[in-house]
Amino acid sequence: MVVPRPLIDPFGRTIDYLRVSVTDRCDFRCVYCMPEAMTFLPRAEVLSLEEIDTIASAFVARGTRKLRLTGGEPLVRRGVIDLVRSLARHLASGALDELTMTTNGSQLARFANDLAAAGIARINVSLDTLDPAKFARITRWGRLDQVLDGIAAAQAAGIAIKINMVALRGVNDDEIEAMLRWTAAAGHDLVLIETMPMGTIDDDRVDRYLPLKAVRRDLEARYTLVDLPDSTGGPARYVRVAETGQRLGFITPLTHNFCESCNRVRLTATGRLYLCLGQDDALDFRDPLRAGLDAAGLDRLIDTALRLKPKGHDFIIDRRDRSPAVARHMSLTGG
Ligand code: SAM
Ligand code: SF4
Repeated sequence: MVVPRPLIDPFGRTIDYLRVSVTDRCDFRCVYCMPEAMTFLPRAEVLSLEEIDTIASAFVARGTRKLRLTGGEPLVRRGVIDLVRSLARHLASGALDELTMTTNGSQLARFANDLAAAGIARINVSLDTLDPAKFARITRWGRLDQVLDGIAAAQAAGIAIKINMVALRGVNDDEIEAMLRWTAAAGHDLVLIETMPMGTIDDDRVDRYLPLKAVRRDLEARYTLVDLPDSTGGPARYVRVAETGQRLGFITPLTHNFCESCNRVRLTATGRLYLCLGQDDALDFRDPLRAGLDAAGLDRLIDTALRLKPKGHDFIIDRRDRSPAVARHMSLTGG
């Protein structure tokens, strides 16, 4: 499909991937993501499902080929399945290649069939450990069996699954190989993520930070990791594990600059478009929309926003300066 005016940022990168945080709320309180007593936004500040659809569809009209719904926990937002069904019209028209979701899996058993029927073919599920007690400690409010049931339901519904595992020193670094074997046996891909300094949390990120370079070195002593060409345009670098056949990704914002091929922007639950996960450059779409912005105005606003896209992020985890690189939590912008 030929897009008349594709989105190209000031550094010549084509932007064809939009991530949408449909809610900042969550039924878990993961230690690396938010404090236990997290304050959520008043509902009036959060975009309605119709507003999300309007903004996302305007991006699709400008060449967005991939939409990911995230949060907070997207499946705790009431009516989210209606939003998925509505956005799926862009899959049917051929404008969109993929509509996907990142979820903690807690509600998947309930919604897996609806998601599959609506056209979701692939999801990312966050799972940092296979030990029930450790899972409860990391997520504070989560139950491992519920998530495993959800993953099984999604798989039974025919949805391909990628497991996201945040690597945490002294917490789950002893479980990475077990997770690799579990995901391989279940037919899932695995992505390992370095903890990113976003928002104030109760835990200490400096102590938990585990550079994935060392993890990769350890795995290479026992497995053959064959580099794959990066096809997602995103931060993950992928290898194929020759012994298991699965894909393994490494997201290493702190040890590797992944910005040269960045193809994405992010819409928060409140309608701010962030041009980079690790910078504060953003433009508000909600208030203009609520003030009656028409389709042509929305289209112009997208161009204005794109001009703000920075070259890269400045994530650093530093013992001297323990303040986060960006003040907002990951749950607002969406992971
Ligand atoms: N609630 C859903 C979930 O957990 O999958 C979607 C939103 S969550 C913010 C998206 C991803 O970001 C999850 O895989 C989570 O582990 C990851 N994440 C959250 N905070 C992070 C941080 N500070 N550093 C690295 N990853 C983080
Ligand atoms: Fe919720 Fe996802 Fe953050 Fe965990 S990582 S608290 S599940 S938004």
